[in-house]
Amino acid sequence: MNKALDRSLIKRLLAADCEDPLASTDQLTSQEIPPGVDRRTFLMRSAVGGAAAVMMGHSISAQERTAKALATLPQASSPKPPLAADLNVVKKGQGPVLTTADEFYKVGPGPSSSHTIGPMRITYDFYQRATKLPADKLARATKLQVNLFGSLSATGKGHGTERAALAGLVGNEPATVDPKFLDSLRDKPDQTFPVKLGDKSINVSLKDIIYDATKGDFKHPNTMTVKVLAGDEVLLEQEYYSVGGGFIEWKGYTPPKKNPPKYPFRLMKELRAHADNNKISIAKVILANEMSIAGRTEAEVYAFIDKIINAMVATVKSGLSMSEDDVLPGPIKLHSKAATVYKRAMDDKYASDKGIGALSAFALAASEENGRGHLVITAPTGGSAGVMPALVYGLLEVRKLDRQKVRDGMLAALAIGYLCKHHATLSAAEGGCQAEIGVASSMAAALIATAYDAASLVVENAAESALEHHLGMTCDPVAGYVQVPCIERCAFGAVKAWTAYAIASNEIASRHRIDFDATVMALAQTAKDMNSKYKETSEAGLAQSVVLC
Ligand code: SF4
Repeated sequence: MNKALDRSLIKRLLAADCEDPLASTDQLTSQEIPPGVDRRTFLMRSAVGGAAAVMMGHSISAQERTAKALATLPQASSPKPPLAADLNVVKKGQGPVLTTADEFYKVGPGPSSSHTIGPMRITYDFYQRATKLPADKLARATKLQVNLFGSLSATGKGHGTERAALAGLVGNEPATVDPKFLDSLRDKPDQTFPVKLGDKSINVSLKDIIYDATKGDFKHPNTMTVKVLAGDEVLLEQEYYSVGGGFIEWKGYTPPKKNPPKYPFRLMKELRAHADNNKISIAKVILANEMSIAGRTEAEVYAFIDKIINAMVATVKSGLSMSEDDVLPGPIKLHSKAATVYKRAMDDKYASDKGIGALSAFALAASEENGRGHLVITAPTGGSAGVMPALVYGLLEVRKLDRQKVRDGMLAALAIGYLCKHHATLSAAEGGCQAEIGVASSMAAALIATAYDAASLVVENAAESALEHHLGMTCDPVAGYVQVPCIERCAFGAVKAWTAYAIASNEIASRHRIDFDATVMALAQTAKDMNSKYKETSEAGLAQSVVLC
């Protein structure tokens, strides 16, 4: 056993008892159990060592027990780390949360923020870079080429990644692209489009988007490269990573400089302390930080939040307007059912059944829109884009809550998403579905609690509970399409959010035993330990057991 590793492991295990479970981001971004060491074996040996000492009449400290367990473990080869250490998405947990609302809530085409919105942003970014090449280079350019790797290649066909990538290359941005344009690429895949680079015009088509290696030593599971070629000569090439929730990075990426937040926080514990010490809500802490980090006025922040609220309401309405005869794209031949579920739920005898049925229908509606490749809002991702809109629609359009309450809820939900992104992941390719629907449900629970003026501890407890009960949930989309289990899963995420709020607002808040920070740590660790087959590869779970005919 490597001594340095031994010492660092002991330090981390001892840190598990300290007050702040996320005090060191190392706990999340490096392994608790040494590489190659089976966790169960380690824990069993640790327990056996302790029990033996007690039987012999010796007391044994935690340190001694850890050291003994390590000493008896067999050596094993180290598995490769799943992500490169220099990715910002890996390093980010060390400072205060600096993410802003417009980086987080993004409008774009479904069905997947990491497989459609991210790739479209990437090729659009590359297109902008390519236009800046010197004129003599541009004059020699003959071809633009995109290569998709890892999960982007394994499940990109089902997600429409090639269409999104082509759309970005020809100058479309996710928030403004016409979904009909993407539909036309699906219906007429042989179309070519001229891309203007200086005086040159290069024709591109779906043939220029290449599904490359699905497995390899990639810095991130969602890796892609984009090139300008002159014959075989590469004039410009950039490697990119779609790191989840529509966020992108590239080789050599450095995060943009931002202003310091008014209320710096790295943990929920710190965030709540700001709220409680200043006698303001979590939502108001986030509002103040948005204003200071992004240099925006309060009116500008609310205008953006209103835009997102309106887009969420629109996506539910649009989904509910589709009839049962509508069949979603792809081989599953899944019928839309949001409208039917809603209508029939309204006929239910009991008000509670109506409520659960309607909330489920709203989530199905927005999620089916995602399955159609229509515009959705990342909250935090495309696959989970039915959860938050269901609650926003329900609170605003059905319960007729004051808009300001919903705005505050949207801000509190951001805090949850930020913390999960900061310390764990929003990417199913890194953490399975717990990172998507789990985070969405947790955000939605914070939204409801805040909209109903709950105390900050209740907001935390509701968010914690919703996240806790998604831990371990895998990602296994059938045939690579974000439809099964994704669409119904959004409905469950929405209902679980309400359950979490119902429990949190009715229990004695101070007796809630698990804090949000500990659950985020569990999310990160579970993501790390999850078998890679369950991370958006469509190689296992339902994707394997369901036979389409
Ligand atoms: S199973 Fe979950 S994480 Fe995977 S694509 Fe569906 S919604 Fe996204």
